[in-house]
Amino acid sequence: MTAQILDGRAQSAAILDRVEREVAEFVASHGRVPVLATVLVGDDPASHTYVRMKANRCARVGMRSRRIELDASTSEEVLVETIRELSADPEVDGILLQHPVPGHIDERAAFEAIAPSKDVDGVTRTSFAMMAFDEGGFQSATPGGIMALLDAYDIPLAGRHAVVVGRSPILGKPVGMLLLGRNATVTYCHSRTVDLAEHVRRADIVIAAVGRPELIRGDWIKPGAVVVDAGYADNRGDVEFDAAAERASWITPVPGGVGPMTIAVLIDQTMKAARNREAARASRLGLTPAGTGTD
Ligand code: NAP
Repeated sequence: MTAQILDGRAQSAAILDRVEREVAEFVASHGRVPVLATVLVGDDPASHTYVRMKANRCARVGMRSRRIELDASTSEEVLVETIRELSADPEVDGILLQHPVPGHIDERAAFEAIAPSKDVDGVTRTSFAMMAFDEGGFQSATPGGIMALLDAYDIPLAGRHAVVVGRSPILGKPVGMLLLGRNATVTYCHSRTVDLAEHVRRADIVIAAVGRPELIRGDWIKPGAVVVDAGYADNRGDVEFDAAAERASWITPVPGGVGPMTIAVLIDQTMKAARNREAARASRLGLTPAGTGTD
């Protein structure tokens, strides 16, 4: 193998260590602990595992998580109302709706019930627009994690050709926009793309965000390219790892690459949300200038 590893476990641990210190400072200043509310609908085992991992990471940095688990038959109205209540709840700093939700629920309607000031997973239209306009706000967690991982290893982005395979609203589309914001030249590929291999062969940076094991063959990778594999299905990524690692300069392992970074960004953004809310509260009370909070 010639590629070096983009180590998401190590980099996420560094982020969590920093957030742990920030939580301690926040508790000392404000006398309360930041709270992340997680909402899970149904009994998909993988989703339960993800929510448990997120709660564990909250505990690791000294935050509190409030877990709301709803039956698979929960109606869209009840889910939306539950999320609206969390949006209005003064004790809650961040809200995560674990996706996918059961098919009878309009996921977009549920996401939009999250107050933008608490959208620490970066799934609302408001967060998406702020990200696209480069106006701060909360990043989609997985795209934010990918960017943080690339930055941790000083991977140059400006002027480089990034090929993003996948265009979902929570992953492919936003990561392409973040790369564009950093002056990469971005190509999006998707299920209707003709000759995916040709596009990938021209990439300096490949972002795989599909969910089809080993769809991207190792011999498609341009020698020296950087490969980030966000896909995860059947315990495998979207990229044929061993063959790709023979050609790439940097590559993410699966697991241990993008996954831990996603959770670290979620926790980091919950910390930011808590600080923003305290700054907004202080501003309302006329104590200090406003932060970036909006609630
Ligand atoms: P998604 O909503 O199902 O989107 C998949 C995307 O892949 C779509 O844009 C689809 O194109 C495209 N696609 C499907 N077949 C393709 C093909 N043969 N060639 C090229 N493109 C193809 O999935 P998602 O939510 O974005 O997730 C994608 C993967 O990332 C999954 O494996 C998921 O588990 C993983 N993921 C990981 C994390 C993490 O924390 N590590 C977080 C989120 C997701 P169309 O738009 O044309 O249908």
